Amino acid sequence: MSRVEGPFVEGLRCRECARTYPAEALHVCDFCFGPLEVSYDYEAIASSISREKIAAGPLTIWRYADLLPAQPTAPVDLGAGFTPLVRAERLAAELGLGELWIKNDTLNPTGSFKDRVVSVALTKARELGFKVAACASTGNLANSVAAHAAHSGMESYVFIPHDLEAGKVVTTAVYGGHLIAVDGNYDDVNRLCAELASEQPTWAFVNVNVRTYYAEGSKTLAFEVAEQLGWQAPDHVVVPIASGSQLTKIHKGFSELAKVGLLDEEPSVRISGAQAQGCSPVATAFHDGVDFIKPQRPSTIAKSLAIGNPADGYYALDVVRSTGGSIGSVTDDEIVDGIRLLARTEGIFAETAGGVTIATLAKLAAEGVVRPDERVVAYVTGLGLKTIEAVSPFVGPTATIAPTLDAFNEVLEAEENAN
Ligand SMILES: *Cc1c(COP(=O)(O)O)cnc(C)c1O
Ligand SMILES: [Zn+2]
Repeated sequence: MSRVEGPFVEGLRCRECARTYPAEALHVCDFCFGPLEVSYDYEAIASSISREKIAAGPLTIWRYADLLPAQPTAPVDLGAGFTPLVRAERLAAELGLGELWIKNDTLNPTGSFKDRVVSVALTKARELGFKVAACASTGNLANSVAAHAAHSGMESYVFIPHDLEAGKVVTTAVYGGHLIAVDGNYDDVNRLCAELASEQPTWAFVNVNVRTYYAEGSKTLAFEVAEQLGWQAPDHVVVPIASGSQLTKIHKGFSELAKVGLLDEEPSVRISGAQAQGCSPVATAFHDGVDFIKPQRPSTIAKSLAIGNPADGYYALDVVRSTGGSIGSVTDDEIVDGIRLLARTEGIFAETAGGVTIATLAKLAAEGVVRPDERVVAYVTGLGLKTIEAVSPFVGPTATIAPTLDAFNEVLEAEENAN
């Protein structure tokens, strides 16, 4: 594979032993098997980047190209990023919080934050000469890889657990790539893809052999929030955890902004995590006060977060502990309540992962961990239309009537009497 650097990429560095590697399709250290991380020339970035240059850029993640690991000249781009940051006064009032914001990442091209990571991963994959896009997915990544591959003319192989929500299967299959349903859970699918990645060296598995680049896309969740707050960092953010990658990269994103001079001081953002109780390996380790993440067999309606053996769990735990955050977990019933609460108070319909975030936010607020004097951002990462089976048993028409005025007036009267 040829070697093409991102604009300011120095190379890759092992997170454990700090050995360095060229910016190729590598993801683990040859010596200690630690994960690799992209390293940048921050001094050069600081002299290139500015708030004005960013403001003049595209309304996508590519406005932060100086801090991304791929060349922005011909990105694989469906318009991911620059999603609304919505002030949530009504939700804040219900939860007893003060300044609360929702980062509404349901409004990405395929309805989840995965479009950010896939746009970066496939741009890099194309630079490196890969022709086939592939992934192991809990659902949203499948949608996003299939769509971005279709847009860029790459062939795609997408691997999913066989029991995903219909909304996620259809919204992947429609793009016309290869969609392989595997008789197993996500961790089985991921193991299969790790084996396949060595069998098929010309395939870019976005979350396996190009994972190092993929993960960097999540930093834009921090960049955008800071820019949308007028180049200020929030005090506390709540982030859903599947593999834990997104949470660690939001942390990296905020500290990079200070490193390159876009924030006036080193931000101290408390980072809290959210998991479903039916798949809560990182929350469990947090509460047990241990470093070791014991794998679980997932059983939850939050399928997009159902990773029982999270690749970045250890690092997510470390970020949460070092920033003074917490990790909460919520039941399936609480997830449904969280989805409905966000919809009812803010007009935003999230998928189950969003329900996990909002229900966990409610719990942490009730415990006094998320405080009313903090400026808080909750990351709502996926669209409710893809998981309607989670709420469809609980909502429907408030009345069904004959097409007459009388029939409707009866309903009105009954409702008035009930109040
Ligand atoms: C994948 C996913 C996450 C979590 O991502 P990780 O980086 O694996 O922790 C959160 N929300 C949604 C909607 C997702 O699809
Ligand atoms: Zn190493």
